[in-house]
Amino acid sequence: MPGNPNEIKLVNNAMSNATRRKIMNFLSTGDKSTEEIGGEIGKTMLDFHLKLLQQASLIEIEEGTVRLSEYGKNFLKEKEEKGADKTAEISQAKPIEITEVRQLLPCIADSSKFRVIANIAPPLGGTLKVLEPIFPRGRYSDKISALIMQKGEVITTVYGTGKVTMTMVKNEDEAKKALENLRSTINEAIAKGVAPAPREKVRIEPMELYKYLPQTNCGKCGEQSCYTFAIKLMGGEVTLDKCSPLKESSYITNFEHLQVLSAYI
Ligand code: SF4
Repeated sequence: MPGNPNEIKLVNNAMSNATRRKIMNFLSTGDKSTEEIGGEIGKTMLDFHLKLLQQASLIEIEEGTVRLSEYGKNFLKEKEEKGADKTAEISQAKPIEITEVRQLLPCIADSSKFRVIANIAPPLGGTLKVLEPIFPRGRYSDKISALIMQKGEVITTVYGTGKVTMTMVKNEDEAKKALENLRSTINEAIAKGVAPAPREKVRIEPMELYKYLPQTNCGKCGEQSCYTFAIKLMGGEVTLDKCSPLKESSYITNFEHLQVLSAYI
């Protein structure tokens, strides 16, 4: 049964794909032959999908018959129970309004852009965690109890207390539009009253990580270049804190971007 971080990574990777989730749900109705699965789900890359599910110990394959493993059955059961809890939480949430927008000082990283602080009411508290899947580049941080989202250069952080911050915003108009989008997206999910389905994983390329590294090739991380560091970051061989220049105030926004991107590695 998966327990160590590498095995958990295999499970997360296996379940991050819609086709594989469909296969798991189809198997929850009973054992199936590979032909039956191909007929229901489609034959494209079926062997590959089955292999990943098998590697993650979610299914067992024996002489052309595919079945959920004990772990796979428990995994689906737990997921169903968690889904019911999340739906209960979101069905109690109230629609939000933007109550205040303040434009503050220019961004530290780029003085032609602004950092904006706003407030939403009522505060969403822990419901924010349930809302994470509706934002393709969103990540909920338990550490700061906030949902962090990236769109282009702009990073928006919505705290459970109702405070919202935005960095690298061009002007107040852009901030107001982004806040209005945020309000309508959240209110739509609340109106539906059901927990959003897990999203497809956003794929990150090393070049995208490299873009936000200092690009000075200083070697303080022990790597020959920032690009090598980006490749190792992708492979999970190094962590962001190894790049000490990122802690300098001039890289504060880059660091925030990299934190968001690392959630998708
Ligand atoms: S410490 Fe940071 S800036 Fe220096 S080479 Fe490594 S990744 Fe690049």
